[in-house]
Amino acid sequence: MLNIDEFRQEGHRLVDEIYNYYKNIEQYPVKSQVSPGEIFERLPREAPQEPEKFSSIMQDFQEIIMPGITHWQHPNFHAYFPANASFESILAEMLTSAIAAQCMVWATSPAAAELEEMMMNWLRDACGLPSKWHGVIQDTASTATLVSLLTAREKRADYSINKKGFSGEERFIVYCSTQTHSSIDKAVRIAGIGDDNLVKIGVDDNFAMKPDLLEARINRDIEAGFTPLAVVACIGTTSCTAIDPISEIGQICEKFSVWLHIDAAFAGSALILDEFSDLRRGLEKADSYVFNPHKWLFTNFDCSAYYVRDKKALVRTFSIMPEYLKTGVDSDVNNYRDWGIQLGRRFRALKLWFVMRSFGLEGLRDKLRLHIRLCDEFRERLYQGDNFEILFTGRFNLVCFRYNPEQISDENKLERINSELLSKINESGEVFLTHTKLDGKYALRFLVAQTYAESRHLHKAWEIINRYASDIIR
Ligand SMILES: *Cc1c(COP(=O)(O)O)cnc(C)c1O
Repeated sequence: MLNIDEFRQEGHRLVDEIYNYYKNIEQYPVKSQVSPGEIFERLPREAPQEPEKFSSIMQDFQEIIMPGITHWQHPNFHAYFPANASFESILAEMLTSAIAAQCMVWATSPAAAELEEMMMNWLRDACGLPSKWHGVIQDTASTATLVSLLTAREKRADYSINKKGFSGEERFIVYCSTQTHSSIDKAVRIAGIGDDNLVKIGVDDNFAMKPDLLEARINRDIEAGFTPLAVVACIGTTSCTAIDPISEIGQICEKFSVWLHIDAAFAGSALILDEFSDLRRGLEKADSYVFNPHKWLFTNFDCSAYYVRDKKALVRTFSIMPEYLKTGVDSDVNNYRDWGIQLGRRFRALKLWFVMRSFGLEGLRDKLRLHIRLCDEFRERLYQGDNFEILFTGRFNLVCFRYNPEQISDENKLERINSELLSKINESGEVFLTHTKLDGKYALRFLVAQTYAESRHLHKAWEIINRYASDIIR
């Protein structure tokens, strides 16, 4: 066991290790190369009875754990969406874990509650979101979407389902597009609405929800005796960063008194840029909105910003007041345990404060613009050669493409070639990409969003992709 002086010594050493990690991060394979079970097999079967030396724990960390890590902060991590960090955010997380406060209610750390309120306001205003919205930090967008659907359900049912459970009379329907994230499916299940009552509306050529189809379906459902409960629209779908037409969807929701939740988990960060101000149009019609600073705003996972128009409905859905949690100031403060699912909460606002102050909004904007520009450069290269086909290019920093040097039209063959290419690229450990399917076509996704990505990393990615692509054809 460490005493406080040993803690200090090991702590200094650890910061140096972290420094070395970031200095040398490009030497690690981006995607972990281990096979299933490999790490588990290397671990002792039982916890030690006797204390072990800290140095041997650290040694095992390097030898056993690190090989099984996929390096999300590697600048050649182009997969999924990022979970990016920054040095400011890491330092803030160190403080958060040192203080180790449990911030369930205001009184359990007033600074955490009040900083959270202010950080949510800073972010809201930086993004140009409606000024009347109230924000709260959730762990993930999945949780925020669940919280949103539960609030929609309770508000519509006059808070009776919380009290009595489902009566069997409710026939709620939730709508999203065919492209929306699996977290919507999950939320619909957990909220008791059921898979069969989640309707996936078709999309246009840009993978955006077609509002006319939505309206027609709502009309049909009403005629059939269902209650349209909520629409989940998306700014920046996970597959290809498509953008649903928020204004039109908002008008339809208003017309039919349907709850509107907006999932901007990844692309919401782009709203700090005025060149995306058109995406703010129609947001005032939304009931709730989520985006993840832990994705593209350099704030360590987890940190999800959830906004609502009707704070009372949210709190009424989640507030339970047992005697042991009453504090005497409850009517004057935000007790964030009432704003979501968990009781216990980490002090997550601190890292946002560190990041927003140390970068400044201008610094954040510069980073986002750099990523978008680097992605543009990559896309230009794809356009220029004859070997690659661009399947979709969004407005942000993601391009979906595939290798097709011989104008092959057989989809199966193209899928085989490209999935083999993807495996080769990822096995190299030099860069990490993932794939999707667009309209049935297998596509490689290339994203530029890593905090410390520079032009040279794009050159490297381009070189690696081409190297393995030419191997495939040979
Ligand atoms: C990543 C993502 C989610 C899920 O985010 P979590 O915070 O991991 O729950 C939901 N929706 C979209 C559009 C996403 O990109």
